[in-house]
Amino acid sequence: MKKTSTRLADGRELIYYDLRDDTVRDAVDRRPLERTVTTSEIRHDVLLGDAVAVASHRQGRTYHPPADECPLCPTRGDHLTEIPDSAYDVVVFENRFPSLAGDSGRCEVVCFTSDHNASFADLTDEQARLVLDAWTDRTGELSQLPSVTQVFCFENRGEEIGVTLGHPHGQIYAYPFVTPRTTLMLRSLAAHKNATGGENLFDAVLRRELAGERVVLTTDHWAAFVPYAAHWPYEVHLYPRRRVPDLLALDEAARTEFPQVYLELLRRFDRIFDGEDGQSTGSTRPTPYIAAWHQAPFGALDGFHGVVRDDFALHLELFTIRRTSGKLKFLAGSESGMSVFINDVPPERAAERLREVAS
Ligand SMILES: [Zn+2]
Repeated sequence: MKKTSTRLADGRELIYYDLRDDTVRDAVDRRPLERTVTTSEIRHDVLLGDAVAVASHRQGRTYHPPADECPLCPTRGDHLTEIPDSAYDVVVFENRFPSLAGDSGRCEVVCFTSDHNASFADLTDEQARLVLDAWTDRTGELSQLPSVTQVFCFENRGEEIGVTLGHPHGQIYAYPFVTPRTTLMLRSLAAHKNATGGENLFDAVLRRELAGERVVLTTDHWAAFVPYAAHWPYEVHLYPRRRVPDLLALDEAARTEFPQVYLELLRRFDRIFDGEDGQSTGSTRPTPYIAAWHQAPFGALDGFHGVVRDDFALHLELFTIRRTSGKLKFLAGSESGMSVFINDVPPERAAERLREVAS
C-alpha cells in the first residue's frame, strides 16, 4: 500500500491509498473553493447523559446530485470533484460539511472505489483489503489528535438509510468523548468482570453464540452471528476470533481473511429479500444497510471499574432497516420514545435466512 497525503483548495486534508507502490499522485485541486465555516457544537443532555452534535452549516450540503455531477468521482476534464486526480483506488478526505470539527472532533469521507456504479460488495478482495488498511491507518492517525477519544468507521448504504450520494463511500467520525453505546458496553463489561471474578463478557458472548443456532458463518479467524437480542430485522455481528481492542491490533492472518468474510456477508445481505415479492432472483432493490465498526476508545477508561482497553472486543455490526422486500423498519414510538426495540423477525429465523443465501 502506498499513501499520499495532499490538501484540497480550501485546506482540507486528502489521502490517497494506492495498491501499487509506484503510483504518483500530484494532481492539484483547481476549484475556487473557499474555506468552509464549521460551527458544530457538542451539547450534553444532562437528563440522559448523552450528547448531541448541533451542526447548522450542514443544511447547505450536496443532496442527491446527478451522476455526472458526483463529487466523489475522480476529476475528469472540466468536471472538478473532491478528488483532484483522474483515478484512485481508495481515497479519504475531510468532510466539507462535518458534523464534528475542530475541538468537537473530525469527520472524514472514505471512497471505496472510483467506480460510481459499484457497491462495497462488488469490490475485489484486494480492494476490500485496501479499505481495511485505510480504516486502520485513519484510526491510528485520528487517535493522535488531542480532541479525539473514539474513532468510528462506518458505511450507510441506500437511499432508505438517508444516503445523499450514490457513489460507494463510507465515513469516519472521530468523537471527542466516549459514545453512549460504547459507554453502555463498557459498563456491562465492568459489571460482568467484577461479578465473575474476571471473565470477559465479549468472550462469553462469542462462546455462547458459536455454540448456538444463530451462527451465520465462521472461518479460521472470524465469526459472524445474529445476536440473541438482535434489535434490527437482519443484524449480524462479526468478530475476529482472537479478541483485539481495535483495527490497529488486528493480526495479519485476520486481515488477510477479512475480505472474503466481509464480502460474503454483504453479498448475502443483498440476497435476503430475493424472490420474496414473487419477482425473479436479483431483481429486488439492493438491501439498505449500516455497517458499524466498534472499537475501544483511546485514553484511560476511568469510570469503568477494573476495565482496561484490551478488554474491549473490536467487532463490526451490520444491519438493515428493511423488514420485507417492500417494508422498512421505522424507529417509531417505542424505539424513538423509549429506546425499546420491537423486532418482527426472530433472530433465529434471520440467521437461518442468512445461511440459506450463502454463495
Ligand atoms: Zn461518483
